[in-house]
Amino acid sequence: MEKNIQEAENYCQQNGLNLTPVRRKVLEILLEKNTAIGAYEILDLLRESGFKNQPPVAYRALDFLVQNGFAHKIEQLNSFIGCMHPGKDHSPAFMICRNCDSVSEEEALTRNFSVSQIASKAGFTVEKAVIEARGLCQSCSDLA
Ligand SMILES: [Zn+2]
Ligand SMILES: [Zn+2]
Repeated sequence: MEKNIQEAENYCQQNGLNLTPVRRKVLEILLEKNTAIGAYEILDLLRESGFKNQPPVAYRALDFLVQNGFAHKIEQLNSFIGCMHPGKDHSPAFMICRNCDSVSEEEALTRNFSVSQIASKAGFTVEKAVIEARGLCQSCSDLA
């Protein structure tokens, strides 16, 4: 995790972005968990770490992280996860476990995956597609 934070710091430095203490802390919180976390939980954790209860600041920090590719919003869960490929433009595919809520991020490799094929028939060019797949993760299906 230290490594990811370090990468984020380097990326920010190189791109003239400011990884403020609260942004950094939110990123740490996100990277610590392998489950997606909602904004409220993030607020609680920030408070526990000694940050003031300032929801707008926390939301802006989340926006910053999402916009710069350090975190993703999982629409289905209305929550966030840290990204393992900061600074890279990528089309992620999320595997969301319905049993333990773990989320793993895989790279949805190429542009010509099925969404694009369907879309091009409709004359639509896909620039970014986010896949959210729901199911059972490896450890949960082992238990089943
Ligand atoms: Zn990502
Ligand atoms: Zn699971």
